[in-house]
Amino acid sequence: MIIFGSRGLDLKRGQGNFYCPNCQADRLYTLKERKRMGHIYWIPLIPLGSVGKFVECNVCKDSFHEDAQYMETNANIENKLSMAIKTALSAVILADNVTDKSELAMGSAMINEYTNEDISVEELEEDLNNVNLNDLSQTLGEISPHLSEQGKVGLLQKCVLMSIADGELDDSEIEIIKNIAIGLEIPPQYVQGIIQETLEMLTKNQED
Ligand SMILES: [Zn+2]
Repeated sequence: MIIFGSRGLDLKRGQGNFYCPNCQADRLYTLKERKRMGHIYWIPLIPLGSVGKFVECNVCKDSFHEDAQYMETNANIENKLSMAIKTALSAVILADNVTDKSELAMGSAMINEYTNEDISVEELEEDLNNVNLNDLSQTLGEISPHLSEQGKVGLLQKCVLMSIADGELDDSEIEIIKNIAIGLEIPPQYVQGIIQETLEMLTKNQED
């Protein structure tokens, strides 16, 4: 008797990093394609066509729709956030065309505290020559969908703190802060209030 039938054969089609919804963490995945193979005596013979592609988590082995490979990793989001904070703070530092040592010191301290970078005052000074402020709105636009309202306000507050490192908040700095708010999709009517609140917070901290 000839045993003829079909079974699935999973072919490896790729791999990469994704955010596994099951592990709720960044994981390696394998992209697989399931082919239906005809067989005689369990020897695969005839490819009967593709059943479809799917993504398998290398850790929990759960499988997902192939679009899951595009699930953005936490590491990627973290990088975007770092880039956004650094670009925004750089824009504030450059706003008034006066870059003094105290601004640079505070800038590097804030970047080191809030991003995954470790940058010296001298390195920041060097970076400021190369920063492209035309990228500001795009950089902010990429992180904005990942931030809560609180996260957006927090980022804007850091920029306000940075802008008064040189002792005053001038018009050019307010202008940049408004642009950063637009990039983060914070409604313009809230900006003045956020600036005011940050200044009051600072005064209160200094009194304590
Ligand atoms: Zn998993």
